[in-house]
Amino acid sequence: MERQPSGRASDRRRAGPGASAARPAGRAVGPGIDLDAPVQYVKGVGPRRAEQLSKLGVQTVGHLLRHLPRRHEDRSRLKPIRLVAHGAAETVSGSVTGAATERRRGLMITRVLLADESGSAQLVWFNQPHVQRRFPVGTRLVAHGKVERRYGAIQISSPECEVITGGDMVGMGRIVPVYPLTEGLSQPAVRNAIFSLLPHLRGLPDTLPAAVRERHALVDLAEALAGIHFPESWEARDAALRRLVFEEFFRLQLRLAARKTAEEARSGIAFHADVADEIAAMLPFTLTGAQARVLAEIQADMRAPRPMHRLLQGDVGSGKTAVAAAAALAAIRSGFQVGLMAPTETLAEQHFLTLQRLFAARGVAVDLLTGSLAERERQAARERLSAGETALVIGTHALIQEGVAFRRLGLVIVDEQHRFGVVQRQSLREKGFGHGAAPDLLVMTATPIPRTLALTLYGDLDLSVIDALPPGRQPVVTQWFAADERDIVCEFLRDQVREGRQAYYVCPLIEESEALYAQSAVEKAEELRQVFPRFRVGLLHGRMRTPDRAATMAAFRAGAVDVLVCTTVIEVGVDVPNATVMVIEDADRFGLAQLHQLRGRVGRGGHRSYCLLVTDPRHNPFAPAAEGQGAGDGQRRTKVMVETTDGFRIAEEDLQIRGPGEVYGTRQHGFDALGGLRIANVLRDARELEEARSAAFALVAADPGLARAEHAGLRRALESPVPGEFTAVG
Ligand code: ADP
Ligand code: MG
Repeated sequence: MERQPSGRASDRRRAGPGASAARPAGRAVGPGIDLDAPVQYVKGVGPRRAEQLSKLGVQTVGHLLRHLPRRHEDRSRLKPIRLVAHGAAETVSGSVTGAATERRRGLMITRVLLADESGSAQLVWFNQPHVQRRFPVGTRLVAHGKVERRYGAIQISSPECEVITGGDMVGMGRIVPVYPLTEGLSQPAVRNAIFSLLPHLRGLPDTLPAAVRERHALVDLAEALAGIHFPESWEARDAALRRLVFEEFFRLQLRLAARKTAEEARSGIAFHADVADEIAAMLPFTLTGAQARVLAEIQADMRAPRPMHRLLQGDVGSGKTAVAAAAALAAIRSGFQVGLMAPTETLAEQHFLTLQRLFAARGVAVDLLTGSLAERERQAARERLSAGETALVIGTHALIQEGVAFRRLGLVIVDEQHRFGVVQRQSLREKGFGHGAAPDLLVMTATPIPRTLALTLYGDLDLSVIDALPPGRQPVVTQWFAADERDIVCEFLRDQVREGRQAYYVCPLIEESEALYAQSAVEKAEELRQVFPRFRVGLLHGRMRTPDRAATMAAFRAGAVDVLVCTTVIEVGVDVPNATVMVIEDADRFGLAQLHQLRGRVGRGGHRSYCLLVTDPRHNPFAPAAEGQGAGDGQRRTKVMVETTDGFRIAEEDLQIRGPGEVYGTRQHGFDALGGLRIANVLRDARELEEARSAAFALVAADPGLARAEHAGLRRALESPVPGEFTAVG
């Protein structure tokens, strides 16, 4: 974990106990504690433990105070061994009365007998014979683990144990913290070091404004730290946790509020053109109620003189492209250029085709700019753009490169936002900053996000949601097949193609390398050509040259290819309404979001569509789980896909399986949002998040630049690279 000292001279001046070797720790010397003092000088730490602590990211007194327990154990009244409950996680204490290790079927089983006045329990370890030496007869232990009661015997397997020495007053007789440890470091060592700091917390400058604490009934920092480490009661622990969780969210939301306010203070463009009639004439269908509503929200933003900053969310197939086209037209008719950025070349090419078809008839010049254009073509496209000949440019990352300049950029649209980071969407906008007014920004995503996560990741954007699909859509029928039933799958495919439909056939995912993955697609295409000699089988993968790929996509779109064998290059955005079958081999190797996107390629026209998920028969998602073994994640994902087509439910399942950091790829994309949350949990702590958000936005609304003297600390806190560090705001 990366940490940096929040060091400021003013903090250092506050001398405190434990701050230097000269002043004996443990004696309170007025308010204050030196948070930046090296941890080595804390009572009982010393150079060796300091070294061990640094492996946990703990270098200073402040870090040590922020080293939070994993859990707490109630040792104020330990349960008599005889009363522990089967199946419960219990903590017991007693003396070791015997131990033995035996070998059974290649397994080393070590049993340590622990007794108190009421009875005895067996502590059991597998393949760890050395524990017997750690706990000789007579040792006093506290043990924690899951209890099994069988035939009158009490057993705790692989318990966490702690030796109690006579003088250990800290680890007994109270609610005791249990910390994350590292090699060589013991619970009592960490516990004692932190315990010795507690008497000096009084008067610690707070990191939340007093008004916010009062308003939301939060305990102050000193009380929170005392309560998170050594709570007097479970209620005190919960109050401490709530305050620390709130604080993490507050920091994050303050950043978002500051960013949003700064954006809104910029002068933007008031697009004036009324294009309602032209939009109706341009689109081949009538907008759905949901599309019309979000378009009205977007147009209201565009007419206003401040820059739009809006997220458009809509499940796959909900028709975001049409909304984007309408917004683009409004900007173009007001005399501005529009840039649309997509995450893949295939998607950029498709948007280019779709939009060119719509716009060409209206005399609007549309251009494509991707990395795989020949240098000469790219140069020509850049020139048309900077000369202002191009009204709408569609591209990939190539759009944000240096040397790409607009004459009058007014609207930036970013498709499939989850593939880009904040930095990238911002850098495209910056290409329009030179003209006095900031361009409007519309980001689009198909990833359905629970509200709490949206507030965390995109809390600086306004939100529009397309919550209905175009008329006539039927849910995609999704079925699981074992790989040895491939005949049935092929038979089904044959029927559909004979009825005039088309199919996608996604190859097993090979993650090691793009080249291998492409190779597997080539082989699969060969195989299917043998199986379906009368069908036209096409091939699409990421290693193909752009013209070949574009030609294949064009052929598929035109109905000249029946079965398209492909890798996940088609994952996002591809739109061919006549395709009704999506076969995914080794489906359990794909992530849920990916499967949902892939399935979203079918069910886009009036015909009933099907998604066939094929896996190894041993990964049957519906087989009852073997004893003591849950279904694998892959099986869980396959099962979710068969059970629902609701993107929102899928996103929630995904969160349950993987956790938010993984799901929203925050790390890859440099979003520090979730990374900054160490104890707060966007799924569990929704209430604190909402409260912290309203508090942060209210504060920024009252004092936009955080310019008031009493907010100087908060301003510094925002500049501090590590959220959650101590930056006093009191
Ligand atoms: P996504 O939101 O996944 O980007 P698209 O914009 O690709 O969805 O639209 C999916 C399909 O639905 C396209 O074929 C598009 O032409 C069609 N479509 C969009 N809006 C409507 C509508 N209002 N009525 C009928 N079809 C529509
Ligand atoms: Mg799309």
